[in-house]
Amino acid sequence: MQKIILSQLDKKTLAEHAEKEKPNESCAILFGKDNLVSEVFLTKNTEESPINFTISNEQLIEGYNVAEEKKLEVTGIFHSHPNSEAYPSNTDKKFMHSNPVVWIIYSGINKNFKAYILESDIIEIPIEEK
Ligand SMILES: [Zn+2]
Repeated sequence: MQKIILSQLDKKTLAEHAEKEKPNESCAILFGKDNLVSEVFLTKNTEESPINFTISNEQLIEGYNVAEEKKLEVTGIFHSHPNSEAYPSNTDKKFMHSNPVVWIIYSGINKNFKAYILESDIIEIPIEEK
């Protein structure tokens, strides 16, 4: 069973980022090894939208470069849903196909974190706290 491990500090960083970017969605790239997230790279939502997010190509490249320098992998993509549950939208599902990593979503309503991967369908995987 796949899972993702996130530290309490990383959760706090992501939740604060999400709250700060309200009313818009926030996003970040998660670095680590295997299923363990060891670093969070906060990014800007270039769409500045409450229902969508886009990470610029520049920031994506920067993120991948930082990961490479630190000998880490991109283990996940994070974004927030300020006004809805932490469940992938249809747009998210579409982008999960092109970015097959773990997707972590934070809900601004109930402050929940949920993680998903795409197999034949989208499945929720547990988030373990380090
Ligand atoms: Zn979404």
